[in-house]
Amino acid sequence: MRIACPLCGERDLREFTYKGAALALAYPSEAASAQEWDDYLHNRDNPAGPTRELWYHGSGCTSWLVVTRNTVTHEILAVELAENAEEASA
Ligand SMILES: [Zn+2]
Repeated sequence: MRIACPLCGERDLREFTYKGAALALAYPSEAASAQEWDDYLHNRDNPAGPTRELWYHGSGCTSWLVVTRNTVTHEILAVELAENAEEASA
């Protein structure tokens, strides 16, 4: 699998580290309930189909990326810098 980093271009998967669902960008407010924090920290869906994921380009530009990937086909549908990504629900 290859990932097209917006800054470096298309690179081998081994240059990147998977860092979990992009849900991590949707940080709860301080007033959030315990259930909201539990969902944020521990509970994840496991959808079949397009998902938004955080990847770190550690062997390249050290950017955090949001990769939209189909978990069934592994096709990468979009890659954007995390700092430009809208908050993701998963
Ligand atoms: Zn890069």
